[in-house]
Amino acid sequence: MREKVNRRIRVLPVILCLLFLLEITACGAAKNEGLSETLADTSASPLAAGQAGHFSDVPEGAWYAEAVEYCRQRGIMNGISDTAFAPEETLTRAMLATVLYRVEGSPAVSAPSGFSDVKAGTWYSDPISWAAKNGVVEGYGGGVFGVDDSTTREQAVTILWRCAGEPEGAAATDISDAASVSAWAQTAVRWANANGILEGMTNNRRFDPKTNIKRGEVASMLYHYLNNTTSSQPEPVAGGKTLVAYFSATNTTRPLAEYTADILNADIYEIVPEIPYTDADLAYYTNGRADREQNDSTDRPAISGSVANMADYDVIFLGYPIWHGQPPRIISTFLESYDFAEKTIVPFCTSHSSEYSDSGIKSLAPGANWITGRRFAGGTNRSTMEEWINGLELLKPAVPDANQAAFNFETKSVTLNSGYEMPINGMGTYSLHGETCVNSVKSALSSGVRLIDTASAYGNEAEVGQAIREAIDEGIIKREDVFVITKIYPGSEMENPEQSIQACLDRLDIGYVDMMLLHHPDRNDVKAYQAMEKFVEDGKIRSLGLSNWYVKELGEFLPQVSIAPALVQNEIHPYYQENDVIPYIQSLGIVVQGWYPLGGRGHTSELLGNEVIASIAKAHGVSSAQVILRWNLQKGVVVIPGSSNSDHIKENTELYHFELTDSEMARLNALDRNEKHDWY
Ligand code: NAP
Repeated sequence: MREKVNRRIRVLPVILCLLFLLEITACGAAKNEGLSETLADTSASPLAAGQAGHFSDVPEGAWYAEAVEYCRQRGIMNGISDTAFAPEETLTRAMLATVLYRVEGSPAVSAPSGFSDVKAGTWYSDPISWAAKNGVVEGYGGGVFGVDDSTTREQAVTILWRCAGEPEGAAATDISDAASVSAWAQTAVRWANANGILEGMTNNRRFDPKTNIKRGEVASMLYHYLNNTTSSQPEPVAGGKTLVAYFSATNTTRPLAEYTADILNADIYEIVPEIPYTDADLAYYTNGRADREQNDSTDRPAISGSVANMADYDVIFLGYPIWHGQPPRIISTFLESYDFAEKTIVPFCTSHSSEYSDSGIKSLAPGANWITGRRFAGGTNRSTMEEWINGLELLKPAVPDANQAAFNFETKSVTLNSGYEMPINGMGTYSLHGETCVNSVKSALSSGVRLIDTASAYGNEAEVGQAIREAIDEGIIKREDVFVITKIYPGSEMENPEQSIQACLDRLDIGYVDMMLLHHPDRNDVKAYQAMEKFVEDGKIRSLGLSNWYVKELGEFLPQVSIAPALVQNEIHPYYQENDVIPYIQSLGIVVQGWYPLGGRGHTSELLGNEVIASIAKAHGVSSAQVILRWNLQKGVVVIPGSSNSDHIKENTELYHFELTDSEMARLNALDRNEKHDWY
C-alpha cells in the first residue's frame, strides 16, 4: 500500500461561505413574467370537507390540493386570479417574498426597498422591502432584486429556513441526491426534510435541488412548515437525563429553576431543609441561623428527602441563592450526599449584588465535570434563561451524537444514501492472504460479522470470495446476509476502469459486490467512478464510495458524478481523529468508515497500551480494542478492524453490551495527536 499519491491539501469550510455568496449573487434565472400573486381576499369562502377545490386548475386529488386550499383560506397564497392557482408555474422571487411576508402577518413597512426593479405601489413592493430589510431574500447587488426571476428548490428551502430563524439541520438525510445540494443550502434542506416540509416534493427520494420550484410545491412546503415545525427549544442533553436541583428559601431561585426545567424538559428537585428557614433565620448580620452557617464552612444543614434515582442523571443544573458571597451550606450537604463523578454540573445562582460564586463547592463533588456558572438577578425572566441555556455548549447536539441516530444499535446497521443497509461493524482483510485469509473471513462470518472489507490492491479478493462461497455452502450465511466492500486502485486500474471493475467481480465471484470504492484520488478518478456508476445501473455493484478523500477532494469531486458516494473510508483512530473532516462528510449524508481503527498493524500496542483507554476498558470490563471500536461507533464511524485471530475477531463483534459515557467519550476525544499512521 505504498502507491505514491500525494495527500491533497484540506481546506476548512470557508469555501462554503464563498459558494453561498456566489450563489446569492448569481441567482439570475428564467423569467416568469405575466403571473402575479393576487391581492384578492379569497379567505371568505372556506371549503367544506369533500367540496371541490376553489381553483379550477387544482384537481381535487392533486397531492398539493389540501396545501393550496390551506394557504388560500389563510390568505397566504391567493392564486394568480380568482379562479386559477397555476400550481405548475414556477414561483418568482417577488411571489416568494410575498407569501412569506403574508406568513409573517404582513407587517407594516416603513421604507421603500430601494431596488430599481421594484416599483412602488405594486403587489410585491411592501413584501420585498420587508424581505430585504430582514435578510430573508436578498437582492443581486447593483440595486436589482430580480422580481420576475424563478427560484430553485434549494433557494426556496433556504429562504424558508431563514424565516424560521436558521434552525439546526438534522445530521443526516435520506435524500438520495443530497450530495448535489449546494453547500450553503445543506443545513436548510436537511432541516426541511427532517421536518416533513419536503413531503410530496421528492421523487424516489430525489430532491432535484437545482430545479425551479413550482407554486403548488411552495403551497405544500408552507403547509407542512406551518403544521410540522415546533419551537426551537434545545433538546435535552444527548444521551443523558437532566435534573434541575435547586434550593430557594425566599422563592427567588425557584422561578429560574422552574424555567430551566421547563426549557430543558428536565426533571426538577427542590432541596428542602429539614428545618425550614424563618425570616429571623435569614436576617443578615444578626448572628442568626444563616449568618452562623455561612461563617462555618463545616456546617451541613440536613435535607428533607433525597433524589432516589440520581444515578440516572448525567447533567445536573444546580440553582441556589448567594448568602454572604457564598452558596448556602445546604448546597454542600447536597453535593456530599451523592456520587457526582462523571456527571456534568451546571451551577446557577441568584443574587442582586454578588458575582457568580462557587466558593470551593466544586471540591465537594469529586470527578464531576463543572461548567462555569452564571449569576442572575432575582426576577430574571424566562427568555434570559432560555438565551443562557441555548448558548451552553454542552446542550448543542454534538455531531457524533446526532449522527448516532443514523446508526441503529439494535440492528447494528446503518441505512446508506443508496437505500441499502450496511452493518456498522465488520472486518478488514488488509495483509491477510491464502489460507489465513480464508480462515479469518470464515471465522468472522461464523462469529456474526456481516461486513467484509477487501481491495484489489490487497491481492486477496479471490480468498475473500472463496471464504464467502464456502460459508454459503456450509449454511453459515446466505449471500444477501453479507456486505462486501472492494476497491480499485489508482494508476492502471483507474485508467482502464471497466476492465478493473470486472476483474474485481470475477476474482470475488459472489455475484454482485455490495460496495465498490475508489481506493485513493487519482487523475482518472472521475472516469473510474463513472465506470462504477454504469456497473450500478447493471446491478453488478449496489453502492459506491471513496477512500482517502477529504474536504477539498470531495468539494471538487462530487459535482462531477451522478450517484452520491454512500461511504468514505479514511484513517481514523484515537491518535488521528479527523474531527474536522468527519462531521463534514457526515453532513453530506455520507457514512464514514475508519481504517486502522486500532492504529494499524505494527502500531496497535501504542493504542491498546494507552492508560486512558485501558482505564476506561477496565471500568466496563472489556478490552482496550473494544473501547476504541465502541468510541468509533458512538462517533458515527463504522469500524472494520483487521484480524487473523479468531478470539480477537469475536471480541471485536462484542461492542453492544456497554456504552461509553459522555465524559469517557470526552477523555478519548482528548487523545487526538493528529498522528497519522500511514502517509495517505
Ligand atoms: P487495525 O485494524 O487497526 O489493526 C489490525 C491489528 O490489530 C492486527 O495486528 C490485529 O492482530 C490486531 N487486533 C485486531 N483485533 C484485536 C483485538 N481485539 N485485540 C488485540 N489486537 C487486535 O489495522 P488494519 O487491519 O490494517 O486496518 C483495518 C482495515 O482497514 C484493513 O484490514 C483494511 O481492510 C482497511 N484499510 C483500508 C485502507 C485504505 O486506504 N482504504 C488502509 C488501511 C487499511 P491479530 O491478527 O493478531 O488480531
